[in-house]
Amino acid sequence: MTRPINREDRSQNACDFIDEQAITAALSGKAPDQAEIDAILAKSLDKQPLNIQEAGRLLTLSNPDQREQIFEAARQLKQRVYGNRIVLFAPLYIGNHCVNDCEYCAFRRSNHEQSRQTLSDEELRTQVGALVDKGHKRLILVYGESPIYDADYIAETTRTTYSVKRGHGEIRRVNINAAPFDHEGYKIIKSAGIGTFQIFHETYHHATYERVHPKGTWKHDYLWRLDGPDRAMESGIDDVGIGALIGLYDWRFDTLGLVAHANHLRDKYNVGPHTISFPRLQPAQNAVWQQPNLVSDEDFKFLIAVLRLAVPYTGLILTARERPALRREVMAFGVSQIDAGSRVEIGGYTIGNEKQEAEREQFELGDIRPLDVVIRELVSDGYLPSFCTACYRLGRTGEHFMEFAIPGFIKRFCTPNALCTLTEYLTDYASPETRAAAAKQIEKEIAGLEGKMKADVEERLKRIQTTDARDLYF
Ligand code: SAM
Ligand code: SF4
Repeated sequence: MTRPINREDRSQNACDFIDEQAITAALSGKAPDQAEIDAILAKSLDKQPLNIQEAGRLLTLSNPDQREQIFEAARQLKQRVYGNRIVLFAPLYIGNHCVNDCEYCAFRRSNHEQSRQTLSDEELRTQVGALVDKGHKRLILVYGESPIYDADYIAETTRTTYSVKRGHGEIRRVNINAAPFDHEGYKIIKSAGIGTFQIFHETYHHATYERVHPKGTWKHDYLWRLDGPDRAMESGIDDVGIGALIGLYDWRFDTLGLVAHANHLRDKYNVGPHTISFPRLQPAQNAVWQQPNLVSDEDFKFLIAVLRLAVPYTGLILTARERPALRREVMAFGVSQIDAGSRVEIGGYTIGNEKQEAEREQFELGDIRPLDVVIRELVSDGYLPSFCTACYRLGRTGEHFMEFAIPGFIKRFCTPNALCTLTEYLTDYASPETRAAAAKQIEKEIAGLEGKMKADVEERLKRIQTTDARDLYF
């Protein structure tokens, strides 16, 4: 028996907080002058979130010199809040049955060429095992929308994922990307110990939303979906992820939609979204492929920089939908999390095939390089790859995560934890080339630590390298 969802369920004072007129007004008018740009950037560099009027003013800039100023400010802010860490994860597609008919997605019900599959318990263990064997510690489980993927099912697959142990390896944080639930459903899912629950609103533009999510499908209901993260927060899931599918409608509008959504959550619950994703629309099998709103690389990079400035404490996720060169570039001025070694075919982690298989995947990926290669590139570029999962396991989530704002938090917790988890990866999974490439970076990071912390970290790294001790976090 599947658990029905109460589609009348709403968060407290649920309302449609996306004010299209205000967003459109924020994007019209002439470009801001230098004094106005400087004032907005000063506010952001002071780590204060921007409102949609301010973010909108930045988005109207098209002059390359002015845009460069935005990139530079985003670089500085990223460095101040996040340092040079990049958190790594992988997506795991659990099943592609779907009752919706989203025009852009290969899983939509009217795509009869898609081979429909749901991982069995054993297949799920095999896929998780394959990911653990590559060195992953953080996964996002992805589900189509179907009564068969109800809250109990999501909780069960989460528990199964956590239960897979291989040598020194295990998954320590399971995030979820699935359709929105009612309060009861979220509570069941939360009880399995999930990290973030992600729901992408796709496009905040009402008419476009209703067109690409046809009438008669569950996803057609704009408010039900918009209110999804609110219900999740009220159900105790305090790390929620939001996102927009960039390219469905005007990218500036949807960027402001994301800012409005983040600000709404912060105003109402005193904590903003844990992450924002901004997947760019990719070709997908039998999708209704709309060209007019596709976004150029230049504009895409710019929107990431503006988002970085608008929501200083929200993690920004860039997925492997994008090509390696672009991923490498935007790491510097905004992105704090990426997936690596990803496959989006159902069962894709054991097919041992370089080619992507359209009939079992949702869209095409731009970057299917192995995790080891991505890590080598990151350390060679001076980043610190991290598999850290300490915060949510120590209850530093939601409002408490905001302690992030306290100066020194990164030095005290994030860098040491990144070093420990990277050392685990290097000891247990890395190729000799990657190990060698990382050694210099680790040395540099340790040199930046002081006193007791430095000694503690050195002691822990040594223990990881020479004993079975793992999962040593601060
Ligand atoms: N079925 C659930 C839903 O729609 O919310 C969750 C999983 S869905 C597979 C995850 C996300 O993939 C969607 O929210 C959408 O933003 C993204 N997506 C769908 N089709 C895409 C495409 N053609 N290119 C890029 N991203 C796509
Ligand atoms: Fe189904 Fe999600 Fe794809 Fe829409 S985006 S067709 S809901 S899997």
